[in-house]
Amino acid sequence: MADPKGFMTTPRQDWPRRPVGERVRDWDEVYVPGALLPIISAQADRCMDCGVPFCHEACPLGNLIPEWNDLVSRDDWRAAAERLHATNNFPEFTGRLCPAPCEAGCVLAINQPAVTIKNVEVAIADRAWELGLAPPRPPDRLSGRTVAVVGSGPAGLAAAQQLTRAGHTVAVYEKDDRPGGLMRYGIPEFKMERRHLERRLDQMRAEGTRFRLSTAVGRDVGAAELRSRYDAVVIAAGATAWRELDVPGRELEGIWQAMEYLPLANRVCEGDLEESPLSAEGKHVVIVGGGDTGADCLGTAVRQRAASVTQLDIYGQPGADRDHEVEPWPTYPKIYRLSAAHEEADALGTAPSADADARLFAASTLHFTGDADGRVRELSLVEVDAGRREVPDSTRTLPADLVLLALGFSGPDRGDGLVDQLGLAMEPRGTIARDDGFATNVPGVFAAGDAARGASLIVWAIAEGRSVAAAVDRYLTGSSRLPAPIGPYDRPMVV
Ligand SMILES: Cc1cc2nc3c(=O)[nH]c(=O)nc-3n(C[C@H](O)[C@H](O)[C@H](O)COP(=O)(O)OP(=O)(O)OC[C@H]3O[C@@H](n4cnc5c(N)ncnc54)[C@H](O)[C@@H]3O)c2cc1C
Ligand code: SF4
Repeated sequence: MADPKGFMTTPRQDWPRRPVGERVRDWDEVYVPGALLPIISAQADRCMDCGVPFCHEACPLGNLIPEWNDLVSRDDWRAAAERLHATNNFPEFTGRLCPAPCEAGCVLAINQPAVTIKNVEVAIADRAWELGLAPPRPPDRLSGRTVAVVGSGPAGLAAAQQLTRAGHTVAVYEKDDRPGGLMRYGIPEFKMERRHLERRLDQMRAEGTRFRLSTAVGRDVGAAELRSRYDAVVIAAGATAWRELDVPGRELEGIWQAMEYLPLANRVCEGDLEESPLSAEGKHVVIVGGGDTGADCLGTAVRQRAASVTQLDIYGQPGADRDHEVEPWPTYPKIYRLSAAHEEADALGTAPSADADARLFAASTLHFTGDADGRVRELSLVEVDAGRREVPDSTRTLPADLVLLALGFSGPDRGDGLVDQLGLAMEPRGTIARDDGFATNVPGVFAAGDAARGASLIVWAIAEGRSVAAAVDRYLTGSSRLPAPIGPYDRPMVV
């Protein structure tokens, strides 16, 4: 570190967000362009070089955080980019989208605000592209082995890049018309502009990875046929089978799943549609589900100029600070977090006045009421306690003419026939079963990412992609020098 007292003299400063009134009028990223670079070296210098870096342990990729903090504090971008790319194929994705469990595990966070690790990561990644430090790295020679990767989300892309660079001939099969998985049609542009994705895809194509788009394995090409054509197959098909809300009135018009709503808004940003056929404009929107997918619906509905937006969370409102008894440092605590989207709903006054950031906590949906045309008009809810018992006399109704269900996902979508055609064994909770080497019950077929882990995060998907690549490389050649940051059963740190 350039200044050993940096953590005592420099306060934490995050990458500033653009003013709410400005950013809700476009779909660009919420951050002020160019405002991170001038502050980031001093922020990296807040790293104490503590000796036992729990941040590194808390990051599923094992990112070498103290090392690149030191390099950034000295403005050595070349070495920082090298150290960052040694553990992460796509740091500009995680630097924008990761919830940063590393920061919860930062030693400084025991009694001060953590180092802005995620901001340092994205600054290095963006600077690497600006300075030409992220060129394609095609393999020196080809192995003569072929691999099919099913799914082009972060897990499939990371697996494909690692295997291509190791010399194997890799084709990525994707049922959508563009690659990227949930980073393409799920996550909104205001969280990550698609130019970051395109740049990596260009890099991958230049390295030799092939993409077979608009090709659903199981429907457009037989899964067993794919297995016989390639030496190995990686299933990275995601977990997009959504959970339902089984309450009276669910059949009314105007009630949609989040992943029916978000892709249409993303297609407007891609230029495929003039406007979304499922726009929130002028509507009273209720989002059922308190997680990040719900927050993405919220930010999207605000940009589409909804009349009002409310997000229902069945859990009670978490406290502002970590409960040291239940979730001690260095675990990732459940605390009250105000995402960019929540900030926007409040500032625009689209939230019901009593609930400033648009969220209603401890709220359980009872039923929907419709009009004579069968369209939803109202949602009835009741307050519940921590044991999900109804609180007496707490029933209330909300106007609702667009309801978005964001209740999570149970496992891979079985509709294409991929799982059944291959005869893949499944876990009881609906994900693909695999052994501790990422191998499924079908020889030569491996599984990675949300499809096997269950709905998770981009950082875990990239880590899975890197690890499955090492397993496949070993299967094809007898040994592997590719890194494997996680095992299939590794989970976030808990007490
Ligand atoms: C709305 C939303 C917002 C999110 N926001 C964040 C966030 O901010 N930060 C974060 O860390 N995580 C976020 N997540 C979670 C994160 O996106 C996922 O954990 C991650 O994308 C999983 O990666 P994956 O590669 O396993 O699968 P996916 O990204 O789901 O990709 C799977 C791909 O496989 C394709 N596919 C499926 N079946 C077939 C088939 N039969 N043939 C060919 N192709 C097929 C799909 O079309 C898809 O493109 C979010 C999730 C959602 C739904
Ligand atoms: S990938 Fe996530 S956990 Fe790892 S260093 Fe980056 S922000 Fe932290």
